[in-house]
Amino acid sequence: MATQAITRRPRFILVSDLDWTMVDHNDLEHKQLKAFNSLWSSHFAKDSLLVFSTGRSHSLFIELRDHVPLGEPDVLGWNRQQILQSVSEHHGLKLQAESEQRPHKISYHVSLTASKGKGLEFLLEEIEELVGLPPDGVMVCGDSGNDIELFAVPDARGCMVANAHPELKQWCDAHASSNLFQASERCAGGIIQALQHFKLA
Ligand SMILES: [Mg+2]
Repeated sequence: MATQAITRRPRFILVSDLDWTMVDHNDLEHKQLKAFNSLWSSHFAKDSLLVFSTGRSHSLFIELRDHVPLGEPDVLGWNRQQILQSVSEHHGLKLQAESEQRPHKISYHVSLTASKGKGLEFLLEEIEELVGLPPDGVMVCGDSGNDIELFAVPDARGCMVANAHPELKQWCDAHASSNLFQASERCAGGIIQALQHFKLA
């Protein structure tokens, strides 16, 4: 599994669900995903972090990545059965950092996650401690009920894609604020809209 090192404070962090948020399984050409990848490469990749938060297992993530032109995430957060592995990787990571005397380097592909929200809160705590929080903030993107806890992370901006399930739509309607954007475009097209809406791109 590839890893990316987070060695300095990111300018901005984008956290996205994969299925039906970053990836539109109805768009076989993945036009909007490719447009997002292009925008991310040109405007964000050099100084910002891309985080995928998925309920997929590792093997199902690989399967998706093999069929869809996904960008390479800086951090990949798992749900469900990856918790023990994540804990051991996390502790291994800390020891490695100490032994290498590079305390400001964090390098991982798996965040400690019992749930998407807990995983993101953990990741942000780590980033804050080691390199500092991003000046341009955090934006989460989702389409379904299991993404709600991402939206509930304090101070995060939210992007609900147009094809969102009713339970997320209801939550976003109930928590409407200037930090919450309801896109009119599907999936990655909605994420692009949100980056423009928040004047990040
Ligand atoms: Mg989804």
